[in-house]
Amino acid sequence: MKLIPDTALGARAIIEALVGLPERARRFALERVAIVLTGGASHGGAIELSSFAKCAWLIVLDDRVGAASTFLHELAHCMSGHREPSVDAEHEAATLAQSWGARGDSGDADGCAGRFRPRTQPAPVAALSVDGRELHLACSKCGATCFAIALVVAGLDASCWIECKCSNIGDIVNLAPLVPCRCGERAGVTWAASATPEHPLATWACSCGERIERELRSGPDPSPPDDPVIDADDPVMFPLALAAADVARIAHSMRAMGADGPANPVAVESVRAGIVAVRTSLAKFAHRLAPDDLRRVMLNAAAANLARVSSALAAGDASAAADAVTAARRTLAALLGLPDRDRGDVPAATPEGRKS
Ligand SMILES: [Zn+2]
Ligand SMILES: [Zn+2]
Ligand SMILES: [Zn+2]
Repeated sequence: MKLIPDTALGARAIIEALVGLPERARRFALERVAIVLTGGASHGGAIELSSFAKCAWLIVLDDRVGAASTFLHELAHCMSGHREPSVDAEHEAATLAQSWGARGDSGDADGCAGRFRPRTQPAPVAALSVDGRELHLACSKCGATCFAIALVVAGLDASCWIECKCSNIGDIVNLAPLVPCRCGERAGVTWAASATPEHPLATWACSCGERIERELRSGPDPSPPDDPVIDADDPVMFPLALAAADVARIAHSMRAMGADGPANPVAVESVRAGIVAVRTSLAKFAHRLAPDDLRRVMLNAAAANLARVSSALAAGDASAAADAVTAARRTLAALLGLPDRDRGDVPAATPEGRKS
């Protein structure tokens, strides 16, 4: 076993869970498994792969309260040979983990199965422009052009990250299997020497002699515009941008908490404390605006949605909390994107004051 600890407390909890296992499971863990803890004292880590040479499975854990139960759940996935996520896999892993002493959600078979949501990735089909020189990837489910980020390195196989508004996660795809040569064979597709991420030119080179260059075209970005660059001297937009960033972080924490079942009470309380801080700053900001200012109405709507997040979290209703945080984020994003003329009476930022 290879253990990469983050805090002594977190590592110790894993070791204690390990010695509490039936010997067969402990043997499996000691012989086959690597464990990486992160998020306790660090934000991440870089580890040479050779450290894991003797391991068949890698378990990555948030170093937080409850990590030992999560470890048992993940170890159960490894021992059961679950290579694809599924409802059945969740049920089986939680049942086994519970028999090993996992507490809370990690050992709750029906809960884990019920919370399971498959990851949906876009399945692209290639579409060429009339002259064949431009390529976009259309989503086979909804037909929209996938948002694409070309992973350009001259001479390397051409691949890109794609996302679609109809999927909940993106994917890295290789261009070669998507567009065969005109002769029907699979051509080698590499990034051209002159290619850059902004101008992702790829070369199709086929054994039949055909050689053609095409540029990959992206569709619109499906993620909400929640990270505008705001001038720190702008008295109106800057506090709003900070609040929007705080809400984005809250949404992120909520997603992280939900990743392996609902969170422990400490995490929930820390998120709720974060919400109080943002609501306070929104209230201060709203207070400076005229009563009939549209932004004041929107700020109050965002604050009300944050209050809903807090009470939904307290009630353990993760999906209501997620809906409310999304609504709050949309309102703040809309506020940040409002044109000057819609901002009411408070001196608005000069256009030069904003970079975007
Ligand atoms: Zn699981
Ligand atoms: Zn789609
Ligand atoms: Zn060919």
